[in-house]
Amino acid sequence: QAKAAGRSRARVCDATLRARAQEDNELALALRDAIASDGLDVAYQPEIDLETGQLVGLEALARWNRPGHGPVSPAVFIPLAEESGLIEMLGRSVLTRALLDLAEWRERHAAARGLTVWVNVSAGQLEGPQFAREVDRLLQQTRLPAACLGLEVTESVVMGDASATRATLEALRERGVRVAIDDFGTGYSSLGALRELPVDVLKIDRSFVTGLGTEQSDYQLVTAILAMAGALGLAVVAEGIETEAQLHALEELGCGTGQGFLLGRPQPVADVEALLGRARALVG
Ligand code: C2E
Ligand code: MG
Ligand code: MG
Ligand code: MG
Repeated sequence: QAKAAGRSRARVCDATLRARAQEDNELALALRDAIASDGLDVAYQPEIDLETGQLVGLEALARWNRPGHGPVSPAVFIPLAEESGLIEMLGRSVLTRALLDLAEWRERHAAARGLTVWVNVSAGQLEGPQFAREVDRLLQQTRLPAACLGLEVTESVVMGDASATRATLEALRERGVRVAIDDFGTGYSSLGALRELPVDVLKIDRSFVTGLGTEQSDYQLVTAILAMAGALGLAVVAEGIETEAQLHALEELGCGTGQGFLLGRPQPVADVEALLGRARALVG
């Protein structure tokens, strides 16, 4: 009897797994269609200079509104794209869109001249030499200076020993493209390794920002990260600022740049236009 129960449990389990695999497959096919038909959108989240309050950057974040289903979270479709070989295609689509958008904003708004657009890049995009060529081609096509573009990679990507990846990042930095470590503090970067990395900016992960203003330990950790970044000559962006208390703590600690729902949500292109129009009015 126990055996029979075990078998039937195994069957249920099998069926569940198969159903899930099929769902993933369907989702991957739909995602491929969406990318191929230009059906993905890009939302832009402001990055603010915490000393001056000025808009200094925009992070491009992929958005997928699946027809007949509604929005799918990037936490779902980005890993799916990585697993199903679609990430290069997706990444190219987001990078192209972001650079084309920035080129247009720069034509229309004085406030867009000093902006950097930050694009998230997965490990799978950086392995070959084609990514750097792609970036070159797009910068030429849009006539944007390389310094307008920033790439966000996670710690594991730059810390890994994939020398091709490092070579790609180094080549791009030589042209003036900036590189940020995303979600900093959640990986395993050692101090020694950090010094050698082809990196310009640390983005402090939201999990460390959350307790600022309430948790003494988070305050101390962020203080330590800022000191370390200063010693290494790296700029710092704090992610996920949601409250005034967090913002004030970061200002007090001298954190250069901030990002988060309090300062601005990820927003569609049209809203960025409006934002840039207002920014111009402020500048004069
Ligand atoms: P990320 O690069 O660390 O982006 C920050 C995420 O935190 C975004 O989620 C953003 O909407 C969210 N966020 C920003 N401010 C706040 C805040 O104050 N509070 C809270 N609770 N959340 C905040 P999103 O857009 O869902 O993206 C999730 C992740 O998906 C990104 O994390 C990034 O790793 C990845 N991703 C998004 N677009 C792309 C892309 O085009 N390519 C690649 N490779 N990855 C992408
Ligand atoms: Mg990011
Ligand atoms: Mg991040
Ligand atoms: Mg994060």
